[in-house]
Amino acid sequence: MNQDTICALATANGMGAIGIIRVSGNEAFEIVNKIFDGKDLTRVKSHTVHYGYIIDKKSEVRHEASEASSDIIDEVMVSVFRAPKTFTTEDSVEISFHGSPYIGKAILEVLIKNGARMAKAGEFTMRAFMNGRIDLSQAESIADLIASENEASRKVALNQLKGGISKEISLLRHDLLNFTSLIELELDFAEEDVEFADRAALKNLIDHLKTKLGSLLESFRYGNAVKNGTAVAIIGKPNAGKSTLLNTLLKEERAIVSNIAGTTRDTIEEVLHIKGHPFRLIDTAGLRDTADEIEAIGVRKAREKVAGADVLVYLADAGTEDFAQDIDMIRSLWHDGVALIICLTKIDEVIPTKLDAVEQVFRGALDYPFDFIKISAIENRNIQELKNELSSFVEELQSEEGNVVITNQRHFEALQKSLDSVVRVEEAVQSQITTELLAYELRNALEQLGEISGEFTNDEVLGNIFSKFCIGK
Ligand code: GDP
Repeated sequence: MNQDTICALATANGMGAIGIIRVSGNEAFEIVNKIFDGKDLTRVKSHTVHYGYIIDKKSEVRHEASEASSDIIDEVMVSVFRAPKTFTTEDSVEISFHGSPYIGKAILEVLIKNGARMAKAGEFTMRAFMNGRIDLSQAESIADLIASENEASRKVALNQLKGGISKEISLLRHDLLNFTSLIELELDFAEEDVEFADRAALKNLIDHLKTKLGSLLESFRYGNAVKNGTAVAIIGKPNAGKSTLLNTLLKEERAIVSNIAGTTRDTIEEVLHIKGHPFRLIDTAGLRDTADEIEAIGVRKAREKVAGADVLVYLADAGTEDFAQDIDMIRSLWHDGVALIICLTKIDEVIPTKLDAVEQVFRGALDYPFDFIKISAIENRNIQELKNELSSFVEELQSEEGNVVITNQRHFEALQKSLDSVVRVEEAVQSQITTELLAYELRNALEQLGEISGEFTNDEVLGNIFSKFCIGK
């Protein structure tokens, strides 16, 4: 393929022991050769590393006249990768230099002066995709892998990079394609009233697709928990101990702790990792009816946060005489789809015999399932139990080890549309609708699946995906 040669800094912008500049394209070797004082890179073996200097030849004429006319920019190691076994499938060079942003910039300038151009955002990965080395879901997984901040997201992204999703999708497409071809064959012989595609087999295929697509869609709940974190709203009346608990969980004093009712005015979000999974802890303003304008905004926000939370951790102060207000609050905040954990706080302040009685009060009053944990944030009692409870919420979402997990909204939407088409195929078969319509819906389902791997994606979608990458990726 005739590709111009692009270059960019591949390491983070800033000072480091080493910086790496990537060069890729038809003239990668020739261009780097012109600025490299060392071996002739056009003649070295692929996948080898070479020591030398990057030089800026001021002008050909002066260079011929004197050695000193070449300015040495840096002492470097140059890695040579010959097409097609490279990241982009093109001839590529990686220059490792002493990691000063100034040196990096100077090397990029001489590369450009000698015929390379600056790469656009995501252009290296886009070339890998365009040249057919990876499919679109794999290209996206590279961005996810780079952005991964915990064990779970690293694992899921790596599985996607290794082709986990691609394989699953291509199996589904393969079955669907066979059938679509048979149905389309029927269309060609429409007048002869023949059935090439066995309708009973089609029914089986539909069932299989529905199950598969359904479980892929279901995995998005776990995928979302991995990628965006599980949203945990920490709620309770003012002074229930929300900020103290948050601080204990995070082991750092970020939230403001105070015993003046209503000091946690706004919401605070912090990320806590438990067993490799991220949890977004949302501390909220104390919930109570209040005339205080600013605090009322806080309360409204709290209600909004609970509406979007996966887990509601409700804190009730063990020292409370009457829990009616807390119970009312839980009733008004609880909604379907949110897991509820009630924490009785400050248990160090009350006699142990009271605790079980309090639990019975809550159990008697609320008829939905919840976990009840008695904690002392100050004495660090049962905090681990609370963490285990949170962790088990995510573990339950996780399907068997090794299964493909959908983490990408774009994939989720494509799968959903594909499932919709499959359901319409099913309806079409049941109502013995025309073969044309059947073929149309089958094609739709196929195209939706093809969008995930990039076979049916338009330029706008591609531009959108790669523009979110950074330069050098
Ligand atoms: P918030 O308004 O719900 O955020 O409550 P805070 O976390 O600010 O706590 C209110 C008061 O209760 C503070 O004086 C805390 O020191 C105290 N407190 C919080 N947790 C505990 C606990 O586990 N044991 C005891 N004895 N006091 C606590």
